[in-house]
Amino acid sequence: MPIESRAAVLEEPIDDHDFTGRRPVSVETVEVADPTGEEVLVEIGATSLCHTDVGFALGHFDCAYPLVLGHEGAGVVTAVGDRVHDLEVGDHVVLGRIACGRCEQCRAGHSNLCARRVPANESGRLRTGTVPFSRDGDPVHHCLGVSSFSEYTLVSEDVAIPVPEELPMDRACLLGCGVFTGFGAVENTAAVELGSSVAIFGVGGVGLNGVQAADICDADPVIAVDVVPEKLELARELGATHAVDAGGTDPVERIREVCPDGVDYAFEMTGQSAVITQALDAVGSRGEVIVVGVPPFGKESVDLDVYGMLFGEKAIRGSLSGSYNLPLAIPRLAELVVDGKLSLDELVTGTRPITEINEAMDALEGGGQIRQLIVP
Ligand SMILES: [Zn+2]
Ligand SMILES: [Zn+2]
Repeated sequence: MPIESRAAVLEEPIDDHDFTGRRPVSVETVEVADPTGEEVLVEIGATSLCHTDVGFALGHFDCAYPLVLGHEGAGVVTAVGDRVHDLEVGDHVVLGRIACGRCEQCRAGHSNLCARRVPANESGRLRTGTVPFSRDGDPVHHCLGVSSFSEYTLVSEDVAIPVPEELPMDRACLLGCGVFTGFGAVENTAAVELGSSVAIFGVGGVGLNGVQAADICDADPVIAVDVVPEKLELARELGATHAVDAGGTDPVERIREVCPDGVDYAFEMTGQSAVITQALDAVGSRGEVIVVGVPPFGKESVDLDVYGMLFGEKAIRGSLSGSYNLPLAIPRLAELVVDGKLSLDELVTGTRPITEINEAMDALEGGGQIRQLIVP
């Protein structure tokens, strides 16, 4: 029997760049389909709000509406379909991303680029073809195969990744997006080497994990760039050797005061394409820019200094989900947290009931928040 669940439903995006004061999400009761085949039902234990959720509310991505928002979640498996073999009722899981395990990218170990993910996301159907929610018989679609702003969610089995029970849910949920995105960009995509110089533009819920990864990789210096002094302070606590407030100064100039020849790696973690240009100016002639932030889909372009790029050997590349194969990476990150090597406590700046989801988005857009936990 399908079960009822309170969930945060986005009817349609607001057609405006300014989120402030808008109320696009409502909390409603939806029906969650029974798991069949390769699907599992998960009772959400904790979930948190990411900038990408606001991007969905602003219509930055191609997807099907209405949908249940939320993609950073952890919970407990409460039912499994008849073709699920690797998960059992009672397993604690972090919800990752769709990865079919069978397409060319998945088979090559790049499940972050699974060919079945984008079509599934755009159609609002799980990889298995199911629309996970309904309301009065009408379909309510999923968000990134996860939809964690709900008491219960239905996902394809590849999305639910087991983690140790000793990891508290209100920390495990953070492993579902911001942590692997920021940590992986530094540790895995760039594979930052010992002693290399790093600048991280944007030290919020993603960038702070990049700072920790740079610290663990023994990069030096690690230069944090942001416009919010509190975030810069936190970056210092988590391993940044320098903090640059880009609000009142040219960050490239400040970075070049520390590293006159430019840094080896610059990470764009703000989602603003103008910052990509700054990152390119900040790296040395063989430096690498890693673009992590998500600008509005299809709407942004970048000015490239072709002369500076071609007559040096600068490189620019993207990083999606930290280039991780998440079913392997999330348990390893969970272990780092349990062992006290990766700290997540500092990321949590508030807890709100799901009924305050619009206010939570407002607060996140205001810049003062890192991660707010949302209680379904
Ligand atoms: Zn996210
Ligand atoms: Zn695949």
